[in-house]
Amino acid sequence: MAEAGHTLAELGPLRERHPRHIAQPTSVDEVVEVVRFARSHDLTVKPVGAGHSFTSIAATTGIQLDIAAIDGVLAVDGNLVTLAAGTNLHQLPELLGPYGLALANMGDIDRQTIAGATSTGTHGTGAAFGGLATQIRAVTLVTADGTLLRVSETENAELLPAARLGLGALGVLVDLTIECVPAFLLSAVEKPEPLAAVLENWSASTAATDHFEFYVWPHTDTVLSKYNTRLPIDAERRPVGRFAGWWEDDFMSNTVLAAKLELGRAFPAFTPAVNRFATRLVGDRSYTDVSHEVFVAPRRTRFVEMEYAVPFDVVPEIVREIHALIEAKGWKISFPIEVRSAAPDDLWLSTATGRPSGYLAFHRYYREDPTEYFRTIEHIMMTYGGRPHWGKMHNRDAESLRAAYPRFDDFVAVRDRLDPQRVFGNAYLERVLGA
Ligand SMILES: Cc1cc2nc3c(=O)[nH]c(=O)nc-3n(C[C@H](O)[C@H](O)[C@H](O)COP(=O)(O)OP(=O)(O)OC[C@H]3O[C@@H](n4cnc5c(N)ncnc54)[C@H](O)[C@@H]3O)c2cc1C
Repeated sequence: MAEAGHTLAELGPLRERHPRHIAQPTSVDEVVEVVRFARSHDLTVKPVGAGHSFTSIAATTGIQLDIAAIDGVLAVDGNLVTLAAGTNLHQLPELLGPYGLALANMGDIDRQTIAGATSTGTHGTGAAFGGLATQIRAVTLVTADGTLLRVSETENAELLPAARLGLGALGVLVDLTIECVPAFLLSAVEKPEPLAAVLENWSASTAATDHFEFYVWPHTDTVLSKYNTRLPIDAERRPVGRFAGWWEDDFMSNTVLAAKLELGRAFPAFTPAVNRFATRLVGDRSYTDVSHEVFVAPRRTRFVEMEYAVPFDVVPEIVREIHALIEAKGWKISFPIEVRSAAPDDLWLSTATGRPSGYLAFHRYYREDPTEYFRTIEHIMMTYGGRPHWGKMHNRDAESLRAAYPRFDDFVAVRDRLDPQRVFGNAYLERVLGA
């Protein structure tokens, strides 16, 4: 692999941490200017969103383009909302509220920008729901020659399956039109359950619940399951009380988790007992609230993460294999493994392209070396045809990814056409897409 010789810890987002210039455009014209300047001075340009990727996908030694100031709603047409690319997901409830709209699905956090999130294939959970990029209907890009390119179902439509999830390789997204849905509530049931039963019921629970996910606690036979069911916006709201919400979503999930992770780092032998104790402290609650309040929770504990998409049906088999492997290797793993699902889609570089997918996310505390854990699991994922999340740690290169994505070469051809000089290139893209 191209990065052989480096540990995964070295491959973090800081690897190319010194951009030569930082540009903070406040308009699309200024973005065009920066790209033209870069091109004429033989510099690379890398748009950065909220910087929440665990890989160096947004890193650059050229011009870092921070488009945070280009945000907000540009147009609303029924359910179709055009957003400036630097809009953060956490702004959306306030921006979409007046129109009675919401995102159809969300991941665990809302700090990302709409452009950054769609560019890496950010997803939530739900067998009938694709990742965020599947909800994008049109985009406007500033391409490497400094011109604006509109891509939609009626304009340059052949580029749509690439531009909706483009890894930042095709140009600078300046606006995105997203198909929203009428605002809705989610009824949440969260409870500890036996691992064996949850794996047995994986297909049934996923089919019966709009948004099902579970967290496997290594060294225990217990998982924390989350069943979220969509309800009309005028159904009765039963939000978590202020104190209970703070206790579970903030104090337990951040403060206590951080203390637990420090303890596990200092005294690894205690990890199994601490995990068993933790399974008794979290979960077992039900509540109903507006969708974003249920999908998203604050995450303040620092960690590193690798996530793989695999064919939906093999999830139970893989979880059993990894659960047993952790014991066999004698690893002490404090963080739960998160298991989710997504509908198949037709985006060329989507981790769910062409198949119903399950997602397994592996975390380590940022002060622990994840190398052996992640690498060993990555090999297992590859035997199941796994595809790594583009914004999370992995060791794959273009040669190995080409085999995982049927339309990989079509994407590369679009990249060659739109950015032959690699104005938007960086080391990560060279590794995963080729030079
Ligand atoms: C705590 C935490 C929780 C997370 N939870 C989830 C989850 O539940 N589900 C999930 O799928 N992922 C999750 N992620 C991963 C995260 O969603 C992705 O890494 C996402 O890309 C981050 O968005 P960002 O705005 O920070 O983008 P950045 O990391 O800044 O950039 C990502 C990519 O987008 C490109 N980009 C940014 N702006 C533009 C633009 N205007 N034009 C073109 N390209 C652009 C960058 O160049 C880069 O290639 C999580 C990450 C963290 C840290």
